[in-house]
Amino acid sequence: MISDRIRRMAPSQTLELNSKIAKLRDEGKNIIALNSGEPDFNTPAPIIDAAHQAMLEGKTKYTQTPGIPQLREAIVRKLWRDNSIEYSIDEIIVSTGAKYALTNTFQVLCNPGDEVIIPTPCWVSYVEMVKLAGAVPVLVPVNEDNQLDLRVIEAAITDRTRVLLINSPNNPTGAVYSETSLRRVAEFAREHDFFIVADEVYEKLIYGTTPHISIASLSPEMRERTVTVNALSKAYAMTGWRLGYAAGPRDVIKGISAIQGHTTSNATSFVQWAGITALESCDEYVEEMRRAFEKRRNYLFDRVQALPGFRCPFPEGAFYLFPDVSDLFTKRCGDRVIDDAPALADYILEEAGVALVPGNAFEAPYAIRLTYSNSMENLVEAMDRIERVVGKLV
Ligand code: PMP
Ligand code: GLU
Repeated sequence: MISDRIRRMAPSQTLELNSKIAKLRDEGKNIIALNSGEPDFNTPAPIIDAAHQAMLEGKTKYTQTPGIPQLREAIVRKLWRDNSIEYSIDEIIVSTGAKYALTNTFQVLCNPGDEVIIPTPCWVSYVEMVKLAGAVPVLVPVNEDNQLDLRVIEAAITDRTRVLLINSPNNPTGAVYSETSLRRVAEFAREHDFFIVADEVYEKLIYGTTPHISIASLSPEMRERTVTVNALSKAYAMTGWRLGYAAGPRDVIKGISAIQGHTTSNATSFVQWAGITALESCDEYVEEMRRAFEKRRNYLFDRVQALPGFRCPFPEGAFYLFPDVSDLFTKRCGDRVIDDAPALADYILEEAGVALVPGNAFEAPYAIRLTYSNSMENLVEAMDRIERVVGKLV
């Protein structure tokens, strides 16, 4: 028998598709996967060397639950250097990816029935993480520029509001939130006494002129009201290594550590040692990957924008395009009716062999998500194929 809690949980649509793709590939189909957002680059060599060295040195045992002090110190330096937030090491916890840090943050901050405001479109896992904590996701749409809609947010605040989630640069829209809107949100948090959870995993992947601002850096008070979550996954091409962290008030970090102590113990020991090398000596690799993503974004944007029925905002960060495809929802190809985003994604997967994620996964059923975390060669081929099958819709 499965618990009610888990029966109500939808599987991750960004990852779930990978099993379907594996099956199609086993059947001999050539599939280009533009679904899961993860860098196609190899992890930079110095990081791999550092992990290998740590293993050879026997750094293969349990570590302190919140992480080795040397990595937490490196994270303290990083948060000061890049984000102008001053933390001490007991305000940092290292976890198996941002996912686990976020899951536990909601567990620690929320009582059953508490409300968590989530601007939408939003990454697929927030809603399920919040529900797992017994809390209630309150979804508030962003404005037409994909920026925070302050009036809608203010109207959604109630006595039960416990957290407002901020994800900038945003998955799936690629929007980078303006400093003005973050300052206003900070005022809301102070006036109505709630927390901010700031998911900053895409902070290094910005191509426009809007700078990344950590909301915790805006004032000493915001530092006390914010849990900043980040990971090495996206910036350092380390998705499979599962290394992330949360920074926040001591009692919140202690709570997360208590959960980790009973559930995963610690992030993998030698991965933590390699994390120090990533944070302290790999800036040039990050910049090289950022530049490659920027070229791909420009290419993919032009191609997607030119497709009939695709209306695409120009993203400033992350590695996704999120075009509105609702104009296609009356179209068909032979007997096949395209009446929503999942139908369009299925059509493109089956007829063009390109995997995309329908916007429904991100609480935005009018859109479809493509990631440009794939080689230029694959992007060219994927767009040629998509253009061909979309052109057949009448
Ligand atoms: N936040 C966002 C916005 C993401 O897109 C992802 C996807 N990986 C995560 C968190 C989770 O990151 P990690 O792989 O480090 O768990
Ligand atoms: N975060 C990436 C995405 O949105 C990877 C898959 C996942 O963790 O959701 O596609």
